[in-house]
Amino acid sequence: MRWGLIGASNIAATQMIDAIRASGGEIASVLSGDSRRGQDFAARHGIAASTTELNSLLDGVDAVYISTTNEKHFPQAMAAISAGKHVLCEKPLAMNVADAVTMVAAARQAGLVFGTNHHLRNAGSHLAIRDAIRAGRIGRVQSVRVFHAVQLPAHLQGWRVDNPAAGGGVIPDIVVHDADTVRFHLDENPAEVVAMTADAGLGAGVEDNVMSIWSMPSGAQVMAHESFTHGFAGTGIEIHGTEGSIFARNVMTGRPVGEVTLVTQTGTEAIPFEDHNLYHRSVRLFTEAAQGRGRPAADGEDGVRSLAVALAVAEAARTGRRIPVDYGG
Ligand code: NDP
Repeated sequence: MRWGLIGASNIAATQMIDAIRASGGEIASVLSGDSRRGQDFAARHGIAASTTELNSLLDGVDAVYISTTNEKHFPQAMAAISAGKHVLCEKPLAMNVADAVTMVAAARQAGLVFGTNHHLRNAGSHLAIRDAIRAGRIGRVQSVRVFHAVQLPAHLQGWRVDNPAAGGGVIPDIVVHDADTVRFHLDENPAEVVAMTADAGLGAGVEDNVMSIWSMPSGAQVMAHESFTHGFAGTGIEIHGTEGSIFARNVMTGRPVGEVTLVTQTGTEAIPFEDHNLYHRSVRLFTEAAQGRGRPAADGEDGVRSLAVALAVAEAARTGRRIPVDYGG
C-alpha cells in the first residue's frame, strides 16, 4: 500500500514510519507546512518526496497517516476522504465531537477505512487483560483505576503545553487514551463524568493535571488520573471485580512492557502477555482492513467516543458540574 504522511511529526519519526514499512507499506511523500522541514524530514527518513500542498500529497497514494497538531486533523481528514484515501488518524480525532462524527461518517459513506491510532489497545498487556475479563476471571467489574500521570519530556512540550488552539493540554493528549482503554476493557461507554484540573506550572493556558470519575452504564465506577508533571509515579490500570482484581503496572505506554497480576481467592498469579510492537499491530490491522480483511484495532467510532469522554471531562472540570458524555447521536 502506498502511504502519504500528513505531518512531519515526532510520532511519525519515532514509531509510525517504521510501523508502516514493517507492514509492507511504502511511504511516497510527507506533507509539512514548512518546505525546509519537510525536505529535511524526508531526507532523514528515506522518503522520496515532500510537499507543502495537501492535494499533491494525496495524488498517487492509497492511504494517509495524519499526525499534525490536533486542530488540523479534521480538515486534512476531510480532504483525504474526498480524494478517496483510507485514513489512519491520530488522537484526538478533532477539536469537537461534531467534526469527529462528520469525518468518520464521510469515510463510511465513501467506503473507506478510517482508523484511530489508539496504540494502547494493541498492547499484549491490554489484550491479555481484556481476555482475562472476558473469561470471567474477575467476575463482574465494579471499578477501574487508571494511573497515567507522567512527566512530559521537554522535546514533546511545545504546543501541548501552551497552545489551546492546537489542542494542547493533558485532557486531549492523555484522557482520550485512557477513555479508549477503559472502553476496550469494559465494552461500554462512560455515561457521566465529574472532574477537576490542577495547574502545576507547566501548562500555559492549558491544564497540565486532571483527575476525573466516570460512571459506566453497568454501574462500574472509573477513576482516572492524567498528568504532564509526575516524574516518578509510574503508570498502570487496576480493574476490580466481584471475583478478583487485575493489577497492571507500567502498561499505559507505547512500549511493550509492564506486569499484569491477577489476584483471586485462590492466590496471586502473573498473567503472561505478548511483547509485540503496539504500533506495528495498529498499522498491520489497518492495512488488512484497507485490503478488505478485518477491521482496524480502533476505528473511527472508537475515536469519536474517546474524544467525547475527554471533552466531557474538560467541561466537567470547567463548570464544576457532573456532565453526561455527548457522543454526538
Ligand atoms: P509534533 O509536535 O512532533 O508534530 C506536530 C506538528 O508540529 C508537525 O505536523 C509539524 O508541522 C510541527 N513540528 C514538528 N516539529 C517541529 C519543529 N521542530 N519546529 C516547528 N514545528 C514542528 O507532534 P507529536 O508527534 O508529538 O504529535 C502529533 C500528533 O500525534 C498529535 O495529534 C498527538 O496527539 C498524536 N500522538 C499520538 C501518539 C500515539 O501514541 N497514538 C503519541 C504521540 C502523539 P508540519 O507537519 O507542518 O511540519
